[in-house]
Amino acid sequence: MQKPAIVQAGNVVLRARASEVDPKHITSANMRQLVRIMVDVMRAAPGVGLAAPQIGVGLSVIVIEDNEQRMAKLTKEQRAERGRTLLPLMVVFNPKLQVLGDEKATYFEGCLSVQGYMALVERHVAVEVTGLDADGKPFQKQMRGWPARILQHEVDHLHGMLYIDRMMSRSFCCNDDMAAKWLDMPIDDVKRALGIEQD
Ligand code: ZN
Repeated sequence: MQKPAIVQAGNVVLRARASEVDPKHITSANMRQLVRIMVDVMRAAPGVGLAAPQIGVGLSVIVIEDNEQRMAKLTKEQRAERGRTLLPLMVVFNPKLQVLGDEKATYFEGCLSVQGYMALVERHVAVEVTGLDADGKPFQKQMRGWPARILQHEVDHLHGMLYIDRMMSRSFCCNDDMAAKWLDMPIDDVKRALGIEQD
């Protein structure tokens, strides 16, 4: 089966609120197929998360996954700084987030629906997600660091929000030309260089 294209910014499906999925439908053949397609599209991209609206489906479901391959270019220090840890595949229907504590962190973030760019985004360091898993079973999980960032990014998609709505706009940059330069620098130095006010 052909993979659907990833919808790009400007498409209204990315700006609409996704509909909750009836728990009774989660184990249906159609829904299982939707999840399979989302996982395939995310892995092929490659990306660490995908929300259904990104393939043009206005339903409240996300898939997230981070593995060694996707963080291969980062040094040990960079992984630690970002809180980037292995995240086995997680499927969440109707996710709800609750912020834990008031710690925040700022890093570069990109989006498969805003291809070719990235920008600094401040996110909560720890969140708790509640929702239904791929078998329709309720669960809750607390997450920190990069997995918590991915979750916040994907759940934003379900509310019609993109990272560009939250970014420090002066940090918006083109991956091809600039990503390597800024990703290697401490965030405070990046902020200084780009004229972003420090806290
Ligand atoms: Zn995204």
